[in-house]
Amino acid sequence: MRGRNKADITIVGAGILGLLGALELVQRGVSVTIVDDAARRPASWAGGGILSPLYAWRYSEAMNQLAREAVPRYQTIVALLSAAGLPVDGLLYQSGMWVATRPVEQEMALQWAASQSWEARPCLAERVMSGSPAGDGVFFPHLGSIRNPRLLRQLRAYLRRSGVTFVNARVTALHPEDRGGRLILQDGQVLVAETVLLCAGAWNDRLLAELGPSPALFPAKGEMLLYQLPAGRVPSIMLTEEGYLIPRSDGAVLVGSTLRRGDASDYPSVNGRYRLESLASHLLPELALHKPAFHWSGVRPGCDRDHPWLGAIPGRKGWFAAAGCYRNGLVAAPACAALLAQLICEEPTELDSQLYAF
Ligand SMILES: Cc1cc2nc3c(=O)[nH]c(=O)nc-3n(C[C@H](O)[C@H](O)[C@H](O)COP(=O)(O)OP(=O)(O)OC[C@H]3O[C@@H](n4cnc5c(N)ncnc54)[C@H](O)[C@@H]3O)c2cc1C
Repeated sequence: MRGRNKADITIVGAGILGLLGALELVQRGVSVTIVDDAARRPASWAGGGILSPLYAWRYSEAMNQLAREAVPRYQTIVALLSAAGLPVDGLLYQSGMWVATRPVEQEMALQWAASQSWEARPCLAERVMSGSPAGDGVFFPHLGSIRNPRLLRQLRAYLRRSGVTFVNARVTALHPEDRGGRLILQDGQVLVAETVLLCAGAWNDRLLAELGPSPALFPAKGEMLLYQLPAGRVPSIMLTEEGYLIPRSDGAVLVGSTLRRGDASDYPSVNGRYRLESLASHLLPELALHKPAFHWSGVRPGCDRDHPWLGAIPGRKGWFAAAGCYRNGLVAAPACAALLAQLICEEPTELDSQLYAF
């Protein structure tokens, strides 16, 4: 790392972007402090963890470049946690992913998969999951999901052991200076930082607004249900236009998700539950006979383009941010974190950083 104080990077937010950003930085020998407001539930906890954008071929190349290597990147992260003696059972589950497609789109999906050198084959839903009424689709055998709440827990444990300091507080104001600046915390405390990385998810817009004009960002609430079924009953992620099933390795099955643009409220609703129960029985009719074990919600960091904003904040030396990962923050986080660390440490970047620049 050239020309920076090694002991002075402060990250705001301990969702997946903040934690993986910290991991990339500590691997470069940088000392990191993370300020996180435990009263706000990260979207990274609430999300489903699918390691692909939904209908990936509908997205821009800029988004797909962030998502393409998600599975191998998470394999590396899980191996690192495992080597440190942390429990990694079920953290990464390569169950495969089946996607419902109409005939024209099926061709498009297969061509797109070939262009990415991804294995994919046309397949009836019923052949992947018995009893599925979903019809024609494409199966991607190498895809899967991460068990995100557990992953966040293990990442925090790893980072603590690596010397990262966690401060449980809400940042209420930012005072930029010539380089970096001061972060004012809820209790009046002040943190001075030479380099700051803002990873505050759906709450980033308020912080960015203090630094100058910022891109249009919005909250987008999402709700999920969990059913406990025998392990293997849902063998693969099953994605349709209406919603999806995500299996965990122990038989838990997530049904998701609702999407309410502009809604930043963080509690599950009766309406959301009703919609998700209908969706569950539509995707797998026998779920009508089961009671969901858990119902929750989270707030996605929405933005009006299909790929996030990542990098330095113009005109503010020492300030960086990751904003607007929207529906794809978990799949994109390893690549986003690597790009941010490369920019902060003034290294050559693997990806074209201009595609994501503020
Ligand atoms: C229902 C649902 C399903 C989803 N499914 C998927 C999926 O299958 N695959 C996928 O890739 N993505 C999915 N997503 C999207 C994904 O979860 C998000 O894009 C991603 O988690 C965003 O990560 P983040 O680190 O930017 O923000 P967050 O995870 O929200 O973390 C932000 C952190 O910042 C903290 N914070 C905020 N403001 C402050 C402040 N002022 N001071 C201090 N701390 C602060 C918060 O407490 C929080 O811990 C889903 C999201 C939802 C809600």
